[in-house]
Amino acid sequence: MADCTYSVPDLNTSGDALYGPRICNQPFVDWVWSTHGFNGTYWQGGWGFDDACNNTKPLCRAFNGFWLLNYSADDYNNEDWNNDILHWGRRYVREQLHAINDLRAMCGDGSAIARTSNSGCAHYRQISSSSCDDWDRNCCDWIPCSWVCGLITWICRAWVTITSSVCDLFVPGRVELYLGFFYTKDVPGRAETLVHESRHIGGKPHNANFPRGSVFGAGKSGADSDWGYQGAWMYGALYLWWFYAAGTRTTPALQQAAKQRGNVVIDNAFATHPGFTIP
Ligand SMILES: [Zn+2]
Repeated sequence: MADCTYSVPDLNTSGDALYGPRICNQPFVDWVWSTHGFNGTYWQGGWGFDDACNNTKPLCRAFNGFWLLNYSADDYNNEDWNNDILHWGRRYVREQLHAINDLRAMCGDGSAIARTSNSGCAHYRQISSSSCDDWDRNCCDWIPCSWVCGLITWICRAWVTITSSVCDLFVPGRVELYLGFFYTKDVPGRAETLVHESRHIGGKPHNANFPRGSVFGAGKSGADSDWGYQGAWMYGALYLWWFYAAGTRTTPALQQAAKQRGNVVIDNAFATHPGFTIP
């Protein structure tokens, strides 16, 4: 536990003073807990399971990130994929974290932010169940409409459930959130991390080394090749950009911080610089 000591930075600067009271709401807590794959074993004791409204503890601070992610679009119930990431980011994160179903709080090395491992089964589950959904939607185009369509859809879904559960047994996937997530990241930055890790679950690993001069460690692996790869760094930066440009129920200071962080990502996390920054 030597690495598991932390200090709590200024609650106004991080946004926890603003968002903390908002998450202190039983229906929200129940909803966010049950839909994002929280693994209860890892949030007990000092992590805040019995103290969810305490914005100096990890659980509350994670909830704050989820609250921002879910309610920063003006019309937050509109999570259509055709809209922007400020709208559908919440849905993307919810679906990915639900698919992997194992979200843990851990110490890490003190500076680490988060890590997704073995997301293969969750990815398989996502891809295959959307194939079943496609079948279900379009069956009548392919064969004469009848009960056979429904039966095949049922078999498809049962097959996905069984095979992905077997997959989970052998390669259990998980997302770990470390002290850096809870205490070095501000609330918008935590939402960025949730989007970033969800993109890993969605099947996009990092595919390049950090460029010369990168604050993330020049030459080390963990970067994305370019913006067009649509990887975890791109998703995170894009979320921050939209939050900066169109976020609501927040403060100008947090929006500025999101812009700053977004530009750090844009300038440092791509092997080939995207060629623009957030203006
Ligand atoms: Zn990553």
